[in-house]
Amino acid sequence: MTIPVFGSIIGGETDFTGDTIPVYNKFSGERIAEIHKASREVVGRAVANALHTFRTVKLSPVERSGILLKAAQLLKERKEQLAMSLVREVGRTIKDCRVEIDRAVATFTISAEEAKRIAGHCVPIAAQQGNENKLAFTVRVPVGVVCAITPFNNPINLTAHKIAPAIAAGNAVVLKPAEVTPVTVMAMVSILQEAGLPPGFLNVVHGLGQETGQYLLEDERIAMFTFTGSVGVGRHIKSTTGIRKVTLELGSNSPTIVHRDALNIGEIAELCALRGLSATNGQACISVQRLYVHKDIHDEFVAMLVRTAERMKVGNPEEEDTDIGPLISEKEAMRVEAWVNEAVAAGAKVLCGGKRDGTFYQPTIITDVKPDMKVMCQELFGPVVNVIPYDDIDWVFAQANDSKFGLQAGLFTSNLQLAMRAVYELEFGGVLINDVSTFRSDVMPYGGIKNSGIGKEGPRYTIEEMTDERIVVIKM
Ligand code: NAD
Repeated sequence: MTIPVFGSIIGGETDFTGDTIPVYNKFSGERIAEIHKASREVVGRAVANALHTFRTVKLSPVERSGILLKAAQLLKERKEQLAMSLVREVGRTIKDCRVEIDRAVATFTISAEEAKRIAGHCVPIAAQQGNENKLAFTVRVPVGVVCAITPFNNPINLTAHKIAPAIAAGNAVVLKPAEVTPVTVMAMVSILQEAGLPPGFLNVVHGLGQETGQYLLEDERIAMFTFTGSVGVGRHIKSTTGIRKVTLELGSNSPTIVHRDALNIGEIAELCALRGLSATNGQACISVQRLYVHKDIHDEFVAMLVRTAERMKVGNPEEEDTDIGPLISEKEAMRVEAWVNEAVAAGAKVLCGGKRDGTFYQPTIITDVKPDMKVMCQELFGPVVNVIPYDDIDWVFAQANDSKFGLQAGLFTSNLQLAMRAVYELEFGGVLINDVSTFRSDVMPYGGIKNSGIGKEGPRYTIEEMTDERIVVIKM
C-alpha cells in the first residue's frame, strides 16, 4: 500500500527534497506516512516566501474572515475522516479525537469572527498641556511573519489556535508541526488552501526540532514565535530569539481541589477520572495530576474514583468503547512506569493500575505521595492521578501553589467566599471553580505563569499578541 509523503509547502508548491522521517500508527506500529526534513535552505525559502506574501498580498478583514469560516465548514464536513486520522497518528481514542475536531471548528469560527473586530482606540492626547491641536489614536497592525511550532498531543486544535488567529490578524505563517504527528495537520493545511487562502500565507516545514526548528529560530526575518510544547524547548526558544516576540504555552502539574462542601461528588469523581486518565490518555498540560480531597469525603470519593478508573477500557483507540489508547511512544510509557515505580519505592501506594504493557499504561491512581516525588512535582503526561487528603484549606492552597508551574487549577466548593479566596490566592493563569484544571473553552484567555509559559491564547487574545499597537498622532 502506498502511504502519503509530505514535503514542505512554500508558496503553494510542495518541496520534496531532504531525507524522510517515517510516521507511525501509534497503536499498530504500522508506517502510515513520511515527511521530508526541511534543510536550512528550504526553511529560508519558506520564510522568504511568507515575508514576500505578507508585504505584497493584502486580504481585507472580510476576506480573512470568509476564508476561516469556509475552512471551519470544511473541517466540520470532514470530521469523521479527520478524527480517524488523528486516532492513528496520536493514539488517542476516537471519542476524544472527535472532540478535538469539534473544538478546531470552534477555534476557526471564533477566529473568523474576531478578524472583523480588530481595532485600536482613541487616545486623549489633549489631556496634556500643549497638545490641544493634536488628535491621537492607535491601530493594530499584523506583526509580519509568525512562526508556529506545535506539539504532538492535540495537533489539530493547538495548531488551529495559532494559525487561525494569525491569519485573522493578517499575518503570514510558517508552521512546523510535531514530527511524530504531522498527518492530520496537513489535511487542515489543504482545507485552508481549498477555502481560498492565497499561497504563501501558510507555509509548512517539517523535521526534527533540533534541526528544522533550530533553523527557524535563527531566521531573523521571523517577527514572532508562537510555541506550544515542553518547558525545556520553550526556554531554549526564549533564549535564542532575542528581542523578538514569543508566546509560550508549556507544561504543568495541575492541581484540582475537592472541598468537603462540594456538591455531587460522584459526578466530580467521574470527571476527575475522565480528565486525568482518559482524555488525551493523560497527555495534557492541564490534566488532573495532583488531586487534593478533603478528609471528610476522601474515602467515599476515592472509592468512586477507583471504580471509574477500573471500568475504563484500555485498547484499540479506533473502537468506540475504548477509553484509553497507547501513549505516544514506548519510551514515554517507560518513563511514566519508572516515575510511578520510583514513587512506590519511596512509600507511595498504588490504588489501581500501575502496570505497563508496551506503549500502554493502565489508568492509575496513587496515594501516600510526597511533594518532591517526580509524579507530583514534574509534569507526568500519562494516565496517572495522585490523590492527597487534606483537612486544612490554608495548607492545601499552599501545596497547590508550591509548584514551578502555574497553568490552571480547579476547586470544587459550594462556598462562595472560599471560591473567591481561591480566585485571588491560587497562583495560576486560570482558576476553575466547580470544574477540573482541565477545563478549556476555545474562547477564553488561556496561558500560564511561572514555567507554564508567557502570553495568552484564545483567538481574541492571540490576535492581540500577534498584532502591534501603532500610535498615530495628527497635528491639525
Ligand atoms: P516538545 O517540546 O518536545 O516539541 C514541541 C515542538 O517543538 C515540536 O514540533 C518539536 O519538533 C519542536 N522542537 C523541539 N526541539 C526544538 C528546538 N530545539 N527548536 C525548535 N523547535 C523544537 O513537546 P511535545 O513532546 O511535542 O509536547 C508535549 C509538551 O507540550 C508537554 O510538555 C506539554 O505540557 C506541552 N503542552 C502544552 C500545552 C499548553 O497549552 N500549555 C498544550 C499541549 C502541550
